[in-house]
Amino acid sequence: MEIIIAENLDEFFQARINPYYLSLIRYPGDPIWKQCVPDKAELDDIEGFEDPLQEDAMSPVPNITHRYPDRALFLTTSQCGMYCRFCTRKRKVGNSDKISMKELESAFKYLEKHTEIRDVVMSGGDPLMLTDTMLEKILKRLRQIPHIEIIRLGSKMPCVLPQRITPKLVEMIKKYHPIYVNTHFNHPWEITPESTKACEMLANAGIPVSNQAVLMKDINDNAEVMKELFTKLLKIRVRPYYLYMADETRGANHFRTSLDKGLDIMFKLRGHTSGLAVPHFVIDAPGGGGKIPVLPQYVLHRDEDRIVMRNYKNEVFVYREAHADINTDTKVPIELISNNNGNGHNGNGSNGNGSTKKPKNYKEKVDLQDLFPMNKN
Ligand code: SF4
Repeated sequence: MEIIIAENLDEFFQARINPYYLSLIRYPGDPIWKQCVPDKAELDDIEGFEDPLQEDAMSPVPNITHRYPDRALFLTTSQCGMYCRFCTRKRKVGNSDKISMKELESAFKYLEKHTEIRDVVMSGGDPLMLTDTMLEKILKRLRQIPHIEIIRLGSKMPCVLPQRITPKLVEMIKKYHPIYVNTHFNHPWEITPESTKACEMLANAGIPVSNQAVLMKDINDNAEVMKELFTKLLKIRVRPYYLYMADETRGANHFRTSLDKGLDIMFKLRGHTSGLAVPHFVIDAPGGGGKIPVLPQYVLHRDEDRIVMRNYKNEVFVYREAHADINTDTKVPIELISNNNGNGHNGNGSNGNGSTKKPKNYKEKVDLQDLFPMNKN
């Protein structure tokens, strides 16, 4: 019975765990285990989309997705250093079909023709699964296209197989600057001496490294864990860039958690730690709508002349628009959105930071004279 499930899982989405990533597991079912060990829940999940972001529908030629006006996604391999159980591209990665330079030709031609594309993201499969020789051929070819200003490598290697980042590799990559690396750490236990060394080698070669994390149930849906992850990333010179809500991917819905959980985490980060450690929290809209930022509700009220908002400590402040007449009525009605939910999303009475309390200096009416004493005659 278990063998049948294992075979079905392997057929649905191949398993690959390398010895390094395996060594990070501390106990069965821990946050590292959950990311890499196949789970029967993948087969039970018949909801969700095979291609939640509609990448294939937005693919004008094989291996290119052209969703945003001035940038394109370029898939150069179907292989990854590990097959993450939550992957959005389960349909694309994991099979052993190699992509040859010949098959990439239509993609290069498309990029050459579309002069509006100034930013190319090479992504997963993982471009650092290519040999140095093959990767250099692709980078060289991209650099012959004058309108391509920047190249981004979307690679999970610094996290899952940091030994792939070698002096020879970074010496080669830096010849094709400006190159950026977007990597993918989800949990502080993934930050090890090996991954630290890999990220520092990239940074020392002048390659800015950013991180794209995914919010996942029982893996990192906790403000303390996220704060530790993001502050540790900064220490290894990796900038937390995006935190994604998990996509509605078939076979990965058991990783999803609530939007309120994400908003709560963001509220507990902003102001409580360096702004550099606070990523953009986004939903990659199903159906190909692109990344849409979501924020806890900081603006409590807005009218023509002023904005009433709360800070990270839940204290209320008023900011006047530049055009506001200083002699206008200074009584500001604060009518919080119905249910006073504060995050604009849930309507369940929570104020978006996990608390149902009103801000401690909350007033139904705020007198601007109290808030700006310098205006008193
Ligand atoms: S490395 Fe990226 S593309 Fe590859 S399996 Fe993991 S999430 Fe998917």
